[in-house]
Amino acid sequence: MKDKLRTLIGLEVKENEPLKNHTTFKIGGPAKFFVEVQSKDELFKSLKAARELNLKYLILGGGSNVLVSDDGFDGLVIKLNNNEIEIKGSQVTVFAGNNLKNTINQAMKENLGGLEFAANIPGTVGGAVRGNAGAYGKGVGDYVEQVEVIVLGEKEVSLKVLTKDDCEFDYRESLFKKNENWIISEVVLVLESKSQEDIQKEQESIDADWKKRCGSQPYDTPSAGCTFKNIIYTDELLKYKDWETHGKVPAGRFIEEADLKGKKIGGAMVSEKHSNFIVNFDNATADDVVQLISFVKTRVRDEFGVQLQEEVQYIGF
Ligand SMILES: Cc1cc2nc3c(=O)[nH]c(=O)nc-3n(C[C@H](O)[C@H](O)[C@H](O)COP(=O)(O)OP(=O)(O)OC[C@H]3O[C@@H](n4cnc5c(N)ncnc54)[C@H](O)[C@@H]3O)c2cc1C
Repeated sequence: MKDKLRTLIGLEVKENEPLKNHTTFKIGGPAKFFVEVQSKDELFKSLKAARELNLKYLILGGGSNVLVSDDGFDGLVIKLNNNEIEIKGSQVTVFAGNNLKNTINQAMKENLGGLEFAANIPGTVGGAVRGNAGAYGKGVGDYVEQVEVIVLGEKEVSLKVLTKDDCEFDYRESLFKKNENWIISEVVLVLESKSQEDIQKEQESIDADWKKRCGSQPYDTPSAGCTFKNIIYTDELLKYKDWETHGKVPAGRFIEEADLKGKKIGGAMVSEKHSNFIVNFDNATADDVVQLISFVKTRVRDEFGVQLQEEVQYIGF
């Protein structure tokens, strides 16, 4: 099978590659097959090969929003990775595997900004578009003009171009989360004309705010960022009105008030600094994290009547 994949894709294919080496959580069992692709063409060939050989496939960007099971993934993992970028006027075109921070920095050199709020979000542009990653009430989707996707049909693999409106962006949501067979291959962003100094100043103020609120722990200790989605504010949450920011009630606030900061199961812990982060402080297994997530959800539901929903994506369970 490995040789067939190598022939069809034209790239080195690894077998039993530990996925903990490719996730920011540093958790995850082996990928049966693993290939790293740097272009749309390589991505297309890899997906087509998986279809032809009847293999399950998984797209991995920066691995910063996933919890991969201890059993790993029994199929082909396709990791996207590249940093080429094309800038024309205010339009920035990138392969989905481009690192988000690098894209923001490259655009800044051409005096294009707007995405400063996302400069501390790890991962790729494709991952950020799929989850409409964001902060401070803004989302990456706000700056998307067009998305090219590879659609895996029953029999054939084809290309489709979507406009921003087609993408159905919402809080940490998009069309791509509902269509697992639509793989983002290229993204066109439209950014704002801004001086490098202004962009840098804004990034510095965001860095300072983050440090004030979280200290360094969530960045120094492996995690997958926020474990739970914040809760969209509705009248039913009236008694938590004081906690609301940007139209949401922070999930971390419930976790903190339930006295769960520092709660540990195995090697997993609710961060002492940012209660919506679960950190891998000591060789945690995926099982430790799943149990801790379940513990937190139950406690918050019992104490506040609020059902937390995972932001982190489960893989291989
Ligand atoms: C320290 C830290 C801080 C964080 N802060 C934030 C924050 O402030 N705001 C925020 O929103 N998030 C935050 N995150 C979470 C994470 O960085 C984002 O969700 C990020 O956008 C995920 O991108 P990725 O490339 O790493 O995706 P991955 O984790 O690799 O993948 C996530 C999901 O998307 C799928 N996927 C990836 N690429 C594609 C593609 N091209 N086409 C189709 N599906 C794809 C994967 O299969 C998987 O299901 C943080 C994470 C960490 C570790």
